[in-house]
Amino acid sequence: MTGRAVARVDLAAVEANAARLRGALTGGAQLCAVVKANGYGHGAAACARAALAGGATWLAVATADEAAELRAAGIEGPRILVVGATTDEELEVALAARADVAASTPEAVARVAGRAPVHVKLDTGMGRLGTRDTAVADAAIEAAGDRLAGLWTHFATADDRESPFFAEQLERFRAWAAPHRERRPELLVHAANSAATLREPASHFDLVRCGVALYGLDPFGEDPANVGLRPALELRSYVAELKPIAPGESAGYGRRFVATRPTFIATLPIGYGDGWRRALTNNADVVIGGERYPLVGTVSMDNITVDVGPEPSVRPGDPAILLGAGILAEEVASRLETINYEVTVALMPRVRRDHHRDGRPVAP
Ligand SMILES: *Cc1c(COP(=O)(O)O)cnc(C)c1O
Repeated sequence: MTGRAVARVDLAAVEANAARLRGALTGGAQLCAVVKANGYGHGAAACARAALAGGATWLAVATADEAAELRAAGIEGPRILVVGATTDEELEVALAARADVAASTPEAVARVAGRAPVHVKLDTGMGRLGTRDTAVADAAIEAAGDRLAGLWTHFATADDRESPFFAEQLERFRAWAAPHRERRPELLVHAANSAATLREPASHFDLVRCGVALYGLDPFGEDPANVGLRPALELRSYVAELKPIAPGESAGYGRRFVATRPTFIATLPIGYGDGWRRALTNNADVVIGGERYPLVGTVSMDNITVDVGPEPSVRPGDPAILLGAGILAEEVASRLETINYEVTVALMPRVRRDHHRDGRPVAP
């Protein structure tokens, strides 16, 4: 029997995905593994180690606490870049974790006061963090002096192959960064996320920051196998109870499923309290014993119900697969009208993470 709500994460897949990305890199670029948000729900430290084994040489996170967590887990060697904004308090946490930090203005560089390597960010069109003004970014470079480690930007439309904006951002960034890089060849110039890494070698520069693809999720929302990626996460529950249901009887809150024929309902003890979103009500499949069955009725906080048909081969205790066994996060994302990122990031702490390599358990 399997657990109530378990994310089985194959670290061999994460390692293979890192090696796949590394293999695509041009001109000696390094791979930075982005393990923010608990490694997109897959477990940050375990996935960081697997990515490093697959050839990553840098790590990136969004928050100072995430950097501290990696150091506390014993990841001592690799540089960690905190890409997000930090309050004064968070900056101290990042510094204590020996992280590299981002800045865009001379004032932001002054706050670091030479205590950490700084990556100066130019906003080339994302319209979020970073200055749009190259003169301000140049002044930040000046202020950083010999603590300047990198020059970077972030793409808004790398995942949209039709968008001409990607090329515009790339050119704006190249035009700014190239002369600085020529003067100071030790600087790390970086721009690419997973989508850019896979689609445009000219975006690789000295380092690429890949998150989603590491976990075997396709940045373009299609089948990850098309780009040689292996999904790393399988979400499992089990059949806690099996009961017959007659026409006119219902399952779940609000009676949003009413049987129209005699059938059997399997109840799985997993729900939106685990991150299996309520919008999947009457709108997902579950694989039990190699067969796909429809999730029927309302997703509750702690349970879902599945129509396993009038003559079920399903038995109480059978494992049930919600992600994996042919159900891709991309399929679930499309049902939810969101992106695959959100499907795995949504998995709550109460979902147990079991790490393994090709089925062999690994210590947490
Ligand atoms: C999250 C993030 C990435 C990684 O993006 P993916 O699409 O997951 O590869 C890279 N850079 C920055 C600044 C990010 O916030």
